[in-house]
Amino acid sequence: MTPGRPVPPPLAKPLPDLTDAAGPTLAAAYGATAPDSGLVPLTVARRAPKADDVEIAVEFCGLCHSDVHASRGEWGGNTYPLIPGHEIVGRVTRVGSAVDDFTVGERVGVGCMVDSCRECESCLDGLEQYCEKGMTGTYGAKDARNDGAVTQGGYATSIVVDRNYVLRIPEGLDPAAAAPLLCAGITTFSPLNHFEVEEGDAVGVVGLGGLGHMAVKIAKAMGAEVTVFTTSERKFAAARELGADHVVLSTDPAAMEAADRSLDVIIDTVAAPHDLNPYFRTLRVDGALFQLGLPSEAMPPVNPGSLIRRRIAYAGSLIGGIEETQEMLDFCAEHGVVSDIELVGADQLNEAYDRMVAGDVKYRFVLDASTLGTPAEKADA
Ligand SMILES: [Zn+2]
Ligand SMILES: [Zn+2]
Repeated sequence: MTPGRPVPPPLAKPLPDLTDAAGPTLAAAYGATAPDSGLVPLTVARRAPKADDVEIAVEFCGLCHSDVHASRGEWGGNTYPLIPGHEIVGRVTRVGSAVDDFTVGERVGVGCMVDSCRECESCLDGLEQYCEKGMTGTYGAKDARNDGAVTQGGYATSIVVDRNYVLRIPEGLDPAAAAPLLCAGITTFSPLNHFEVEEGDAVGVVGLGGLGHMAVKIAKAMGAEVTVFTTSERKFAAARELGADHVVLSTDPAAMEAADRSLDVIIDTVAAPHDLNPYFRTLRVDGALFQLGLPSEAMPPVNPGSLIRRRIAYAGSLIGGIEETQEMLDFCAEHGVVSDIELVGADQLNEAYDRMVAGDVKYRFVLDASTLGTPAEKADA
């Protein structure tokens, strides 16, 4: 798929007419029934839209590494069946009686959360991802502020979400390639935006996977000079293709030394434990390193001296708020930024998961929801 294609393709088939449905509707889906089940066809019941709800016919859903961990029970605490997917793009099919800002047929998106408390300081500041009572994840979360059911994600033909957590997908964005913006895009946009990266700033990106490739594109669109750090010389050409100005082999101490004091901010997307101290030395005074990957084992210790000597900030960051996610989507539409994707059908999901774990994707798989089939007569979830 060509990134940045200006005109979205027409829908493969007409949207189902659900406007007369009274109760829950059934959607075809793929999900896990146990940690070792792989992804299998399932049927999920979606609630009839309440006053503030938007019902969406899913067109595309990105495959995120979190989906793999969650469906395989690697983070624990799961209930099954579990239908993953939090990079959702589709069209509005119905709206609740109190919704006047979304219309049927409009292209919309849903990211990593579908609700939050809406009252705490974080929520009132538009930082719902840091909700003090906990945001409601798009899948695998107890929808405590709604019907109490466990949320089920976007590997499905439809989803119903409160309008306050629905994003607009600008028509200029290719809908399939825009899906990964809803997690990978906002996760990298938010720290760059928070740091107020602008024309002429020097940005480093550690790791060149789903997150890293978005960080390169977004930082370039913000006008930054971008340096990619990678452990593999084989990724040099790919990094330059994405727009990187410099590529540094992070396993080469001389190359790391040569990058001394060259950067203002680093977006570190690597989830495996790794030594950050050599990266701190590539930052200038008042630089910052944002760590986005969450390693399952301890990281090598940070040397406080490398922070102190240059007043460097070592920070984390988690996705972005709803308002900022919309800002990111509008920014990406304006600058023609989308993800590089490989479109897969439902029957390729398990293979895609194995390839993601092996790092064999450039750079994001996206599920074509038109391949999910039709729902059974009775819901599994
Ligand atoms: Zn994700
Ligand atoms: Zn809150």
